[in-house]
Amino acid sequence: MTAIDFAPPAPDPIVARLLRDGPDAELHPDASRFSEAEGLALLRHYFALLRAGTPQASDALAATITGVGEAAMAKYRHPQAFACKKGCSWCCFQLVTVSAPEIFAIARQVRAMPALAAALPEKAARRQIDPARFADLRNPCVFLDRGACGIHAVRPLTCRYYASFDVGACLRRVNDPDANVPYPGAHVPLRAWQAAILFAALGAAGLPVQDYELGEGVALVLADPGIEARWYAGDDGLAAAASQRSRPGAATLAAAAAWSARL
Ligand code: SF4
Ligand code: SF4
Repeated sequence: MTAIDFAPPAPDPIVARLLRDGPDAELHPDASRFSEAEGLALLRHYFALLRAGTPQASDALAATITGVGEAAMAKYRHPQAFACKKGCSWCCFQLVTVSAPEIFAIARQVRAMPALAAALPEKAARRQIDPARFADLRNPCVFLDRGACGIHAVRPLTCRYYASFDVGACLRRVNDPDANVPYPGAHVPLRAWQAAILFAALGAAGLPVQDYELGEGVALVLADPGIEARWYAGDDGLAAAASQRSRPGAATLAAAAAWSARL
């Protein structure tokens, strides 16, 4: 695919409403129901931005991904307060899988942060990707800086959806990957819905249908800024940042295929 000179399309009214109010959904543990019209509008918007493939369109896509997530979390806020607060970071000792557009957007921000950018390659190289043990005290996120997120304003959707009602459980998790963290249930179907639509758009645009590890992906893009244009042209220079965990499972792929068929 050839990137063309392109101004990102303004979100249509349905996407604009999604960004403002969140999705219209009935959330159930096993079978949540989302609006067909909203899903289709989001899918078409993602697809148009992926086809454009410019940095501007890519950043608009990353902003839509995180913006829809933020609006969804605001709408379906759990009545019980989260234990999360500034400086609490046990959840940042794990692998973080994110979409390629988010990696490109974050890399653009990190380039303007020289100290963070300089330290990143070594931090990324030290990490050990172990799909069976994604939470691990030996694997701090490359953006964790003295207990705080160094890219808080542009952190990916995965981090935004991650929340807990019990900080003690989060600490247990970094020592024991099987420890259960009490997690806001609404976030699971919301995250799955967004992922299926993005993977459907990626597949329809002929792009890799997967996520990538955050730190490793950003390190690759910082080392070779041409990766972004090549990725949108179908050459996956982020492949070294992919892992078993960053590839969608069968259920997500089935949901993505169902959305693709409606495009
Ligand atoms: S998810 Fe857990 S470790 Fe992370 S901020 Fe919330 S309470 Fe703290
Ligand atoms: S990007 Fe920020 S919030 Fe996400 S894991 Fe890394 S330090 Fe934590």
